Amino acid sequence: TDTMRIARRLARAGIASRRDAEGMIADGRVKVNGKLIDSPALDVKASDRIEIDGTPLPASERTRLWLFHKPAGTVTTNKDPEGRPTVFDRLPDDMPRVLTVGRLDINTEGLLLLTNDGGLSRVLELPSTGWLRRYRVRAHGEINQARLDELAQGIAIDGVFYGAIEAVLDREQGHNVWLTLGLREGKNREVKKVLGHLGLEVNRLIRLSFGPFQLGDLAEGAVREVKGRTLRDQL
Ligand code: URA
Repeated sequence: TDTMRIARRLARAGIASRRDAEGMIADGRVKVNGKLIDSPALDVKASDRIEIDGTPLPASERTRLWLFHKPAGTVTTNKDPEGRPTVFDRLPDDMPRVLTVGRLDINTEGLLLLTNDGGLSRVLELPSTGWLRRYRVRAHGEINQARLDELAQGIAIDGVFYGAIEAVLDREQGHNVWLTLGLREGKNREVKKVLGHLGLEVNRLIRLSFGPFQLGDLAEGAVREVKGRTLRDQL
């Protein structure tokens, strides 16, 4: 059938987590067909009119997923206290409201997944999905393949354990090296910390893939929706 609990429907709309949605309902901020509701378990139909603080929730809320080529110099946050450009500032005007799947540092470029489904975004960013994340890296300093191979054992830095990383030395360019890295968790600033530990200073970081999703030839600043069969097969 097409009914769904109201809290889930709000979470699917990317408005809030399921728990936050429950809080919004308890706080009397949510109306269904013009009536304030107080139960997060209320079943709603696709045709029901839902409002939050008087603003209607958009209709169709099937799960959608997009690939975005994040430009360097954008922060992965809705509003930056320092007023720097955000990834949302760079999205096409006709994009629906979306959330990012995890974050990339301001200077990191490349593949960032976007979805309208709050639950999906939280599941996909969990380290436990074990999805491979591939990065192309330019770093200042000297390194050899044997040292990079040590990263396959995992490494502890300042009490944080970083799991196995596959790292390949692609080439040297002046005082820089280019590497390709594969890791299966996404700890805060993981690439920079791990390479920093080996004496390399990252000065360009490009995410090439995230699980089954590839940056491919997607132009900087462009979005591409993952549709239908591909989406169902991958999630
Ligand atoms: N590792 C980092 O250091 N930064 C990122 O943005 C992603 C992975």
